[in-house]
Amino acid sequence: MAVPQRRTSKTRRDKRRTHFKLVVPGMVKCDNCGELKLAHRVCKVCGTYKTREIIKQ
Ligand SMILES: [Zn+2]
Repeated sequence: MAVPQRRTSKTRRDKRRTHFKLVVPGMVKCDNCGELKLAHRVCKVCGTYKTREIIKQ
């Protein structure tokens, strides 16, 4: 069975974890209501896109 030859240092471990982000990339604040929404998609909280196009009331 393969076994690590040496222990991963704290620095190396933490450097690897710099990619673990809190929010999913592509999440932006809605211009209208300020909620987090997916970029390039209609806000599902207030139903707007590009501050104007209202999809649903
Ligand atoms: Zn919104």
